[in-house]
Amino acid sequence: MFDEMWGAIERLGRDGRTGGYLRDAWSSADLELREWFRQEAARRGLDVREDRNGNLWAWWGDPSGRPGVVTGSHLDSVRQGGAFDGPLGIVSAFAALDVLAARGFEPGRPLGIACFTDEEGARFGVPCMGSRLLTGVLDPDRARGLTDDEGDSMAEVLRRAGRDPAVLGRDPETLGHVGVFVELHVEQGRELVHTGDPVGVASAIWPHGRWRFDFHGQANHAGTTRLADRDDPTLPFARTVLHARELAERAGVVATFGKLRVSPGNANAVPGLVSAWLDARGGDEGAVRALVAELTAFSGAEVSTESWTPVVDFDAVLRDRLAAVAGAALARPAAAPALPTGAGHDAGILAAAGVPSAMVFVRNPTGISHSPEEHAEESDCRLGVTALAAVLEDLCRS
Ligand SMILES: [Zn+2]
Repeated sequence: MFDEMWGAIERLGRDGRTGGYLRDAWSSADLELREWFRQEAARRGLDVREDRNGNLWAWWGDPSGRPGVVTGSHLDSVRQGGAFDGPLGIVSAFAALDVLAARGFEPGRPLGIACFTDEEGARFGVPCMGSRLLTGVLDPDRARGLTDDEGDSMAEVLRRAGRDPAVLGRDPETLGHVGVFVELHVEQGRELVHTGDPVGVASAIWPHGRWRFDFHGQANHAGTTRLADRDDPTLPFARTVLHARELAERAGVVATFGKLRVSPGNANAVPGLVSAWLDARGGDEGAVRALVAELTAFSGAEVSTESWTPVVDFDAVLRDRLAAVAGAALARPAAAPALPTGAGHDAGILAAAGVPSAMVFVRNPTGISHSPEEHAEESDCRLGVTALAAVLEDLCRS
C-alpha cells in the first residue's frame, strides 16, 4: 500500500527537468494532491472534512464527542523541493491506519489524519499558513492580503480555487477535535545517521523567522551612468549578506538570504530596488533576535518581519512516551533518540497553541532537504510506519 500511494503522487508537481517539486499551495498540483488525499480517505471509509482554512481532516470515528488522536503533515512543497518533506507524513499516516485496521484494531477514541494547507509558505511567504490561521496566531486580514509572485492576493487565489476567503481565521471547533497531534517527518539533518537510529523523536523546534529587507536605490542606465553617480542597492545588499554570515558564525546561529527580487531586473540597468528575504534560526532566541536587530541597523534597508515563531519545546512526557513506544516497536535496545530541529512544522504551531504535540523523524541519509536530493530509504520509511502505528495505538488507549 505504501508503494502504491507513493507511486500515485510521485509525478504530481514534479519538474521533469530537475526532478524537483513545484507544489505551491492552491496550484493545480496542490489541488490534485488534495483530491488524492480525499480518495485515499474515502476508500478507507474515513470521513473527510475541509475546515475554514483549507486544512483537510480524515476521521476514523467522530471527534465531536471526544477529541481524537491525530497524525498527518502537509502535501505542498518548497519550490524545487524534495518528495519526502510533508508527503512522507501523510502517506505514512494512511499506511499506519492500514496496519492498525489489518490487526483488527478498533480505536478507543477517534483517530484522524490531517493535511495542513500551505506549510512551506512558498507562495505567500508565511509558513504554516493553515495551522497559524486555525490556531488564530495569524490575522486573517493579513493572510487575505498577502500576494504571490504574480501579484495575486491570497483572497483571489482562494476564490479561484472555489474557496471563500471571508471564512478564514481561528477555528476553535476544529482545533477542539485534536486531543493530541503526532507529525511524522523526514529528518532535515543527519543526527539519526550519527546515532545509527532509523527513527527519532523531536525535542524542540528552534525559534525562527523571516524578514524582508528592501534596499532602495535609483534605477538607471548601466552604460551611461558613471559609477560615482550611482545609487546602486546591490552594494549594501551584498555587504549585508556578508555581514549576516559573520554575525551568524559569531552567534552560533544560522542566517540565510535565499530569496531575492531585483527590480526592474534588466541586465543593462542599475537596479532601483533589491528585496531580499532573511531566514534566521538558532537554539538561542535572544541570539537570533540580536542578529536581526544588528543586521537591520547595519543594512540601511527597510526591514519588515514576515513571520516569527518562538522556541517550541515539545511536551516532555508525551515525547518520552513516544520514544519508548517507537523504540520497543522497532525492537531497538533503547528508546528512540530525541533531537532538536531547525525546521518549523505545523506540530510546532499546534504545540504553541496548547495542543499536546510530538514529532517522529525518519532518517535521511544525506540530511539534505528542500531539494530534489532529499531522501529516505524505503526500509526506514517502513520502520517509520511501524513506529507510527504503535504510537497511535498507544495514544488511542488513553
Ligand atoms: Zn515539512
